[in-house]
Amino acid sequence: MPDMTAKTVVITGASRGIGAAAARAFAAQGANVVLLARDRDAVAAIAGEIGPRALAVPCDVTRYWEVEAALGAAVTAFGGLDVLISNAGVIDPISDVDAADPEMWSQAIDINLKGVFHGAHAALPLMLQRGGGTLITVSSGAAVNPIEGWSAYCASKAGAKMFTACLNTEYGARGIRALGLSPGTVATDMQREIKQSGVNAISQLDWSVHIPPEWPAQALVWMCGPDADPWLGNDISLRDPDIRKAVGVGP
Ligand code: NAP
Repeated sequence: MPDMTAKTVVITGASRGIGAAAARAFAAQGANVVLLARDRDAVAAIAGEIGPRALAVPCDVTRYWEVEAALGAAVTAFGGLDVLISNAGVIDPISDVDAADPEMWSQAIDINLKGVFHGAHAALPLMLQRGGGTLITVSSGAAVNPIEGWSAYCASKAGAKMFTACLNTEYGARGIRALGLSPGTVATDMQREIKQSGVNAISQLDWSVHIPPEWPAQALVWMCGPDADPWLGNDISLRDPDIRKAVGVGP
């Protein structure tokens, strides 16, 4: 695992699930961690449990000004920004296109796609002035596979995947490492919502097939080191047994 001592890592969607596990995993490797989400009590509780090298900042990633202010708070608290994990995401609306609520469909794009742009746009000046940084997007198999009832999710994740590739194209030569993590199915609230929907084959999966959120959290830490450089501009799949072995998780 890369030594994250004194590095500052901002994680969006850190109030539960993969984001909360990532905050704990980065802190365990010595990083300062900044936890962003809308649920201020939840991020405050996790940051409090991690200790003085953790900061909780209430933030809705759909509002650019909140994201910019949150990254500013990270720099004020810890002196810089080294890594941004764009993890905040929603699955809703789970619905066929003709029945989907247009407001909810737009909201999914605002969170899953525009939220990633907001983070990168605010982080890039802070990283470039210090010679570089890492921008990781939490992606999905849905970025490359059409899935029934998930048009907003699939379209937003496909957009975020392409956006991450564009970041690598534009900034790769300037010290910015941009790449994505496709975690597979993970036992979080998002999978609970999917199961409850009863729509498509993923909702029918047995709960036991989902991996714990600590696995993608560990992968995100690993991706901050040079071993992940061959995937810059692309997604790393945690379904890949070689990746699991490299990260040190799973069978
Ligand atoms: P989760 O448990 O539902 O957590 C989602 C997180 O996103 C929460 O912390 C939530 O916090 C945050 N969030 C949602 N809307 C937000 C907004 N507008 N602004 C800021 N934060 C927001 O889901 P998860 O499974 O951990 O998902 C994390 C990421 O992994 C997502 O990008 C998801 O698409 C991806 N992923 C998950 C799976 C899976 O099987 N679970 C598979 C592939 C990819 P608040 O509600 O407090 O704001």
